[in-house]
Amino acid sequence: MTSSSHAPEGGSQLLVGGKLTPGGNGVFPTANPATGEILGYAADADSSDMDTAVAAARTAFDTTDWSREHGFRATCLRQLRDALRGHLEELRDITIAEAGAPRMLTSGPQLEGPIGDLGWFADLAENYSWETDLGVAAPMGIKSARRMRREPIGVVGAITPWNFPHQINFAKLGPALAAGTTVVLKPAPDTPWCAAFVGRIIAEETDIPAGVVNIVTSGDHALGAQLVTDPRVDMISFTGSTQTGRAVMASAAASLKKVFLELGGKSAFIVLDDADLSAAVSYAAFGVCVHAGQGCAISTRLLVPRARYEQAVEIAARTLSGIRPGDPNKPGTVCGPVISERQLARVERYLDLARAAGGTIVTGGKRPEQLTSGWFIEPTLIAGLPNSSVVAQEEIFGPVLVVIPHDGDDDAVRLANDSPYGLSGSVWGSDPERLRRVAEGVRTGTLSVNGGIWYSADAPFGGYKQSGIGREMGVAGFEEYTETKLIATGC
Ligand code: NAD
Repeated sequence: MTSSSHAPEGGSQLLVGGKLTPGGNGVFPTANPATGEILGYAADADSSDMDTAVAAARTAFDTTDWSREHGFRATCLRQLRDALRGHLEELRDITIAEAGAPRMLTSGPQLEGPIGDLGWFADLAENYSWETDLGVAAPMGIKSARRMRREPIGVVGAITPWNFPHQINFAKLGPALAAGTTVVLKPAPDTPWCAAFVGRIIAEETDIPAGVVNIVTSGDHALGAQLVTDPRVDMISFTGSTQTGRAVMASAAASLKKVFLELGGKSAFIVLDDADLSAAVSYAAFGVCVHAGQGCAISTRLLVPRARYEQAVEIAARTLSGIRPGDPNKPGTVCGPVISERQLARVERYLDLARAAGGTIVTGGKRPEQLTSGWFIEPTLIAGLPNSSVVAQEEIFGPVLVVIPHDGDDDAVRLANDSPYGLSGSVWGSDPERLRRVAEGVRTGTLSVNGGIWYSADAPFGGYKQSGIGREMGVAGFEEYTETKLIATGC
């Protein structure tokens, strides 16, 4: 089934009902975005595999004590974390080869960080206050002792994208398992090996009971859609594009299941007029190159004081042209490839739209000459277009920064909020009071001030507006996977 040294040992199989199995549709290829070559093959599930996976998750939830054994779940999560740590180098190789993730990111958010986060969710499963005593009250004259309980929501369908495959898979598995739900995970067709490897570790090296986690890889988005409409699934936890999120929400409506959505972004990086312009603009430009700009929370609109626009353009162009895209396997690479030929074509289409609208491609804008294979694009700066332009309003998902002038703090906040998205953003300046006002004025789920990092296991992350519904990570993220029950006893 596999043809590469990066292939997961034993091939890439589905995990269904506790068993590693081949896919009903045979196999589908997975590619290396840095070379464009096929790395090998992954199990390609069919509709009947998905059906069996959902049935297994339902049975595990309804007929075992998994949902009640908080301590056992914590043990399983720690087992999973430790087992994954025992395979770190194999996982690192797969992640670099399949996701095109720069090696340097695998010691942080692309691999080691999210594996470590499983331990935080294990601690939460043990320490969480599952029950709250609301005391005695006498509604309608009837004295009642009230208890409020949190209970796991049931069967979760988790659907994930390719850009940070482990971070997103574990940001769903961690809280879902800590909460006591059972899961069917459908990863993106572009990164099946990252997920299948985890499936094998769960099956072979943990005590996670059969059916609690099912991993269904497929080359076809239709299996995601099947998961959404299945009435045996209680909740969909989805991360992906806003467009797909809309489709997920619409089709989940038929069975009225809970929908949790982490979607796209077009975040603003606001530079105030009292900021160190050079430091702020270089930081913003560097940020769009990380993982070739394929991060939902990357700030891709740079809002700078109008009087310093030309200067900002010059600094950003210098920074971007100094970052050369290259082999993600090399320790110094920040900007690797984009995930696929399709994604590269999408980025190029946006650059054409910028040119057609009269914008200037100040630097970049083309495939690097020195890289003759793989899906690379030079870090690119677009100037001369307003915030209302298509490239400032739509998510490009490549190493592309759009620079836009603002006329003061209020105008910067207005421009930042003039977006269908509300995922993240940044503000740089030197007056704490102005920074606070601007940070509080931007309508986004997370915000960084002067380079502060908001990402960690205990910090809820998510979007306002069309960037999503609900929060991932932290106690708030864990509680997404629970229902609230109120028990009142007459006394
Ligand atoms: P995508 O929306 O194309 O696909 C995401 C997942 O949905 C894949 O597993 C895909 O197979 C599945 N899918 C596709 N159509 C479906 C349907 N009709 N029903 C159910 N499932 C379906 O996204 P992508 O290209 O894989 O990922 C990039 C996008 O993800 C970007 O928009 C990015 O901003 C977003 N993203 C958001 C966050 C966040 O936390 N907010 C994090 C990472 C990525």
